[in-house]
Amino acid sequence: MDTEKLKASVVSEIDSRYEQFAALSKKLHDNPEIAFEEKQSSAWLEEFIEQNGFTVERGICELPTAFRGRYGKGRPVIAFLAEYDALPKLGHACGHNLIATGSVAAGLASCKAADELGGRIMIFGTPGEELYGGKAIMAERGAFTDVDMAMIAHPGGGNTVVMNTLACETLDVEFIGRAAHAAEPESGINALEAMIQSYNAINSLRQNIRDRARINGIITDGGEAPNIVPAHTAAIFIVRAENDAYLDELKKKVINCFSGASRATGAKLKYKWGEHYAAMVNNLTMARLFKQNMQSLGHPIRLGGNTMMAFSTDVGNVSQLVPTIQPLVAIAPHDIQLHTPQFARITASEEGLRGILDAAKAMAMTVVDILASTETAEKVWDEFRKGK
Ligand SMILES: [Zn+2]
Ligand SMILES: [Zn+2]
Repeated sequence: MDTEKLKASVVSEIDSRYEQFAALSKKLHDNPEIAFEEKQSSAWLEEFIEQNGFTVERGICELPTAFRGRYGKGRPVIAFLAEYDALPKLGHACGHNLIATGSVAAGLASCKAADELGGRIMIFGTPGEELYGGKAIMAERGAFTDVDMAMIAHPGGGNTVVMNTLACETLDVEFIGRAAHAAEPESGINALEAMIQSYNAINSLRQNIRDRARINGIITDGGEAPNIVPAHTAAIFIVRAENDAYLDELKKKVINCFSGASRATGAKLKYKWGEHYAAMVNNLTMARLFKQNMQSLGHPIRLGGNTMMAFSTDVGNVSQLVPTIQPLVAIAPHDIQLHTPQFARITASEEGLRGILDAAKAMAMTVVDILASTETAEKVWDEFRKGK
């Protein structure tokens, strides 16, 4: 079969299952589960792909809501990454219900290409993107060692294939002071003062950091009552930078803000860094193929890549290991941001589903391009090796 016919057949495979994908996306949207609690969501996705010919391993990498589905034989092995965690209170305000549906749709359609041309298709269930860096943990535990290339499409407010995202780490921080009556405070050690001094020190630090770096924080425990000197405070900060080297530098400076306040107040500092989200390495060979395929469907998209997006994703960790793309597909007007109630509503809409299914079609067509030509697969890998 020639590649154009095969591309037409992967596209019609997705069109013919439109109702199934609509039902799957709606079920995920109507039952949002936050990071690492995606019990139902992962079970529904596992069942769906199992019924469609994939061999499924559940709870991989010691993560109960992670899974791996396999189909076909031989190389290359092309993986689709499904995310399905929601945000606290906001539900699917990042559209991960659509991401999961898009990756499943692309994976299912790609089986047709694997049947014709050889090669293996995998669908990874990757939980906890919003909070714990599920893919970072899975990468550390070897989930992607057999994978040759990876793809995932994210819904948003623009059409861009190449996304440059920031490296980031989350910091959990606490101060332990000593309680006292606020009216007789001399025996107390004020943990809240230590936190506020740290907060202000970070505000000062922000004046002298690089443009693309970000430091944001919230205080999660600010004391018990105004008539008690706070004996305990806690906060969560996120530090972001354009690369790992600058992130390391910034992490030290941030800790200095906290340890300075600890010395000044006498409150004891405790902290713990969370999972490391790596910056995204975009494979341009795959990105160009995706762009052509998306345009052939009449969906306008630009290659992009000139600007740094001020957010982070654990897809970055996968992209450090294997050639990866994560196109952004517009389902909302430009001024509606991710992580808002407005975006959560759009991720349940027909436009939302149609947008992500266009991306799923273009991803499956990209699989056809890669499986049909050893040269193309080699080009993808050459670029990746050169970038290392
Ligand atoms: Zn998000
Ligand atoms: Zn997201």
